[in-house]
Amino acid sequence: MSPFIYQSNPSRVVFGAGALQHLAREIDALGARRALILSTPGQAASAQRVAELLGDRAAGVFAKAAMHVPLEGAREAREEARRLGADCAVAIGGGSTTGLGKAIALDSGLPILAIPTTYAGSEMTSIYGLTDAGVKKTGRDARVLPRTVIYDPELSLTLPPASTVTSAMNAIAHAAEGLYAHDGNPIMSMMAEEGIRAAAAALPRLARDPHDLGGRTDMLYAAWLCGTVLGAVSMGLHHKLCHTLGGSFNLPHAEVHTVILPHALAYNAAQAPEAMQRIARALDAASAPAGVFDLAQRHDAPTALKDIGMPAEGLDRAADLAVQNQYPNPRPLERAAIRELLQRAFEGTRPA
Ligand code: NAD
Repeated sequence: MSPFIYQSNPSRVVFGAGALQHLAREIDALGARRALILSTPGQAASAQRVAELLGDRAAGVFAKAAMHVPLEGAREAREEARRLGADCAVAIGGGSTTGLGKAIALDSGLPILAIPTTYAGSEMTSIYGLTDAGVKKTGRDARVLPRTVIYDPELSLTLPPASTVTSAMNAIAHAAEGLYAHDGNPIMSMMAEEGIRAAAAALPRLARDPHDLGGRTDMLYAAWLCGTVLGAVSMGLHHKLCHTLGGSFNLPHAEVHTVILPHALAYNAAQAPEAMQRIARALDAASAPAGVFDLAQRHDAPTALKDIGMPAEGLDRAADLAVQNQYPNPRPLERAAIRELLQRAFEGTRPA
């Protein structure tokens, strides 16, 4: 075992079916009294339910969270928090809503309590993103890490089957890259492998019955593990490519992760044999790249960039952008090989 530094983010986690009932207690534990409740417009009813549950502890509902956290929306939310005298924010939803909470925390220092309803894992990281004039900037800041996370699988029962699969693949991608991170460590690797195993085992159950509470519970447990890995170690080529494709070509977040992962793993496979072995073992597959491809395909998730809105004429530019900045990755970034990777991802070719 090589020497390592271990660091993990200090969130408090309340986990289990019905955990939402403990929300008021958790707000008290934060030393807060009035929460601004955040959601997307699509989850406004859930936010309203939370407000009712909180009674006097609810300052108001702000149901305008949007993908990639537009700066204008973040400013409006901060202003609303100030106007209503909120001393904490409750973010109920996926990565977009958690992201809005983080944007509020970034300059106000307001504590965030996250209630994730997808498997994106943002609640476990101190990574924030903000989009200004079409450009998404990301950074890390300890202030944005949610102080408390309530994982209640009952709230993910409504996640549509298609999003369930792509969001699970998004979680698996965090763990897969965590297994070959240059700053990885044995504890995170253990969590990563277990996260992939639990996600891959939960998906068939959820495909049979999206309302299987046991399957939803296991999948949320997987998302927690994978999100923890994302928050603790550095990501490589896969995440950078997804960021480029999502930001420059406006492709949907979880779907891009689903399509790119097999190809990014194939690119790195020869330089990260132990990680590949662990991913394959967790998937109960013969090979990691083909294993994640098959998992997505078996569950009717997209496997080709051309099917999720990527223009063929954008592939050259995507390859250029991908090699603009060097960063740690098991295999050095080679433009020609990345261009080929993108072509295979565009067409949806199964990795050998
Ligand atoms: P999302 O938050 O955009 O949600 C997608 C849609 O699903 C929304 O319309 C939402 O209302 C709906 N939805 C969410 N949960 C639902 C449920 N249980 N039932 C029914 N509908 C539901 O999608 P996401 O994939 O969770 O998050 C993506 C965003 O998060 C991206 O912007 C990404 O960059 C960011 N992200 C950030 C981090 C980080 O560490 N900062 C990590 C992962 C993702």
